[in-house]
Amino acid sequence: MQYFIDVILPIPIQKTFTYSVTEAEFGFVKKGMRVAVSFGNTKMYTGLVFEIHQNPPELYEAKDILQILDEKPIVNETQLKHWQWISNYYMCALGDVYRAALPSAFLLESETIIYRNQAFQNEEILNDDEFLIFEALQHQSQLTVHQISDILGKNKVLPIINELIQKSAIYIKEEIYEQYKPKLVKYVRLHSQYSNESYLEPLLEELSRAKKQREAVLSYFQLATSKKPIKAKTLEEQARVSKAVIKALVDKEIFEFYHIQTDRISYKGETNALKELNEFQETALQEIKDSFQDKDVTLLHGITSSGKTEVYTKLIQEVLDTGKQVLFLLPEIALTTQIITRLQNYFGNQISVFHSKYSMNERVEVWNNVLDNKPKAQIVLGARSSIFLPFSNLGLIVVDEEHETSYKQFEPSPRYNARDTAIVLSAMHQAKIVLGSATPSLESYFNAQEKKYGFIELNRRYGNVQLPTIELIDIKEKHRKREMNGHFSDTLIKQVQEALDEKEQVILFQNRRGFSPIVECKTCGVSPQCPNCDVSLTFHKFKNELRCHYCNYQRAMPNSCGACGSNQLDTKGFGTEQIELELKELFPNHNVGRMDLDTTRGKYGYQKIIGAFEAREIDILVGTQMLSKGLDFDNVSLVGILNADTMLNFPDFRAHERAFQLMVQVSGRAGRSQKRGKVMIQTYNPYHQILQQVSTTDYTAMYKEQLQDRWQFHYPPYYRLIKITLKHKDYQKVDAGINWLVKALQNVFQENVLGPSAPAVSRIRNQYIKNLVIKIPPKQSLGKTKQQIAKIKNTFQAVADFRPIRFIVDVDAY
Ligand code: ADP
Ligand code: ZN
Ligand code: ZN
Repeated sequence: MQYFIDVILPIPIQKTFTYSVTEAEFGFVKKGMRVAVSFGNTKMYTGLVFEIHQNPPELYEAKDILQILDEKPIVNETQLKHWQWISNYYMCALGDVYRAALPSAFLLESETIIYRNQAFQNEEILNDDEFLIFEALQHQSQLTVHQISDILGKNKVLPIINELIQKSAIYIKEEIYEQYKPKLVKYVRLHSQYSNESYLEPLLEELSRAKKQREAVLSYFQLATSKKPIKAKTLEEQARVSKAVIKALVDKEIFEFYHIQTDRISYKGETNALKELNEFQETALQEIKDSFQDKDVTLLHGITSSGKTEVYTKLIQEVLDTGKQVLFLLPEIALTTQIITRLQNYFGNQISVFHSKYSMNERVEVWNNVLDNKPKAQIVLGARSSIFLPFSNLGLIVVDEEHETSYKQFEPSPRYNARDTAIVLSAMHQAKIVLGSATPSLESYFNAQEKKYGFIELNRRYGNVQLPTIELIDIKEKHRKREMNGHFSDTLIKQVQEALDEKEQVILFQNRRGFSPIVECKTCGVSPQCPNCDVSLTFHKFKNELRCHYCNYQRAMPNSCGACGSNQLDTKGFGTEQIELELKELFPNHNVGRMDLDTTRGKYGYQKIIGAFEAREIDILVGTQMLSKGLDFDNVSLVGILNADTMLNFPDFRAHERAFQLMVQVSGRAGRSQKRGKVMIQTYNPYHQILQQVSTTDYTAMYKEQLQDRWQFHYPPYYRLIKITLKHKDYQKVDAGINWLVKALQNVFQENVLGPSAPAVSRIRNQYIKNLVIKIPPKQSLGKTKQQIAKIKNTFQAVADFRPIRFIVDVDAY
């Protein structure tokens, strides 16, 4: 008898591969277990068992597997079904899905590079083979799995390496190792029994004979007028007393110490009861539950700060009570400690967080906890890739900020949208799913209007705080009247000043990082270009360098024009860095912070800035769209948008929808508690319909108008889009390829093929890029269309000349 398994390999090939196993292995192996297999002459991969059978392959001789790596499946059958759906729908290889789904530590292969963990000291826990590898890594800074197999003289080495990873003795290349020590700053406040200033008198009375302590209390009240949290250190300095004096006051229960620990995600504290919902939230909750009676997907359209999160928590609790798991999806950069802490506050250790910035070990741990349905993985809070976790028992998925583009993965394959993929996942688990947003995507809102999804609205901010007033400032006019100072109108400057005078905080939004996007020669008009990409370099003043935002190329800022030698170089346009600089000059006595890709690198990048802003160490925060993502600051009274026009003029069919979403979301950061907030939007074009709709927060007006455009110009939600991109370093090849492809596709789809076109940046990292788009009308079969495209792709790749061209298919490419 012969025994076989079909294995998925983590490579971009559509089919599975058949390997032979022994009778004993056949009795043991299960779908979803990993096996080490050799492939080609020298490669070794970690494959995943997809089928178990007794039919020998027809076209090749099946090789033996090297080894079974798991004792029980680490991927379940629902996942395998889900992966197949992704592979079909997004037209990508199952191997790509497999590679994206598993933490890289699960996917060791012959070329994986292994490093020694310098901090590891417990050599005594290593067995002989493990120690041999560990020791080899003292002589050589890195080893591949292949080399390790040579050192040990055997080819069954993956379990040994896995064990070393488990023991933290080694790590693999994909890992970003970041040494991190939480910064714990000690703050003081009055003990809760002294909740306001009326206690000052009696307190001073009580301390009349402890002069130093009295001094400290007096200074405390002085500092407290700033409304900022008070650091223990600051109080010591201000009162000129020692640590011991403050400590004595804490012992007397007059003061208490506390920490603002915003940059560490591990939960130790106690949990609190869920908040009581107000009547509007209560109604929304009930409506969601009602809609779940006959619909699996529900859209919750709740304005910013209406308390959607609190509504979710009630739903979550009910699902937990039935013994099922919950997945709470957030866009990557909204996944800050703010929301994590908030949920941990209710659900404590039932929450696991899954996040691409987490280390490999943390991700493996979450994977295993979900697999084993551990108590601490009942709720998973995660970014888009958490849809790949091995849930066995999902009851509810929440997709917060469902309109966010970062749910879509553009590169590499699988190019999936986590929201849509989550909807499919929830159906496979017979679970329910809520999509929530203050500014839903047109598609989801359309599905709700068409009654495909349930639809619930929450139109009131919690605590009846009003939505901010939104004012448009015409900067064309301001320029004409010479009322601009740099990029600031006098009106905006005045508003910022007023907010600062009130000790309130300000957020300023500028959708570009860097100092100024373009450097231009005043004499000949030439701008320095990236040598690898078809794009101008961006000037970063702080480091005085030019950088490419596409490939990260950087060089020093030149003193003279590379084309004509003139030393009159001008900077045009503006980015966050320049705004920050102008602010420092306009408001020299206040702290300005900046939040963009450049300042938030590393695992704790965001947290540090958000923490400093929460602790009110920053008065004005300038940032890119990162600022719009679900942050909740209670002291921000003013939000300024420096230039609305760049968003509106972006060449994309969703530009207007996006601009609306972005501006409404950023505005939503203002006035989240008590006082009504203000939003000032600077624009050259105050009569633009989108700005009018933003200024009245009129989602429905925006929706209706955009929908009409989409209908007229054949875009989603009516038509579907599949984009094909070709890339190659030889321009002629790409050009010939795309022309052939357009013709071939037009034979089948006629006028619904658009292109060829070159993207705005038509060469990146020395690769020329050409696109085409296929529009799929409402009644045309999606499945059949994809089959036809796949067929044409095969023919294309059969042409020898075209074979080296990278061929990228992106389904729902938006
Ligand atoms: P959204 O997610 O809709 O923008 P949030 O859930 O962040 O709104 O709520 C906004 C603020 O109101 C938060 O600070 C939250 O703690 C508070 N809040 C909302 N609902 C309640 C409630 N029922 N009881 C107490 N506080 C609430
Ligand atoms: Zn020049
Ligand atoms: Zn570049």
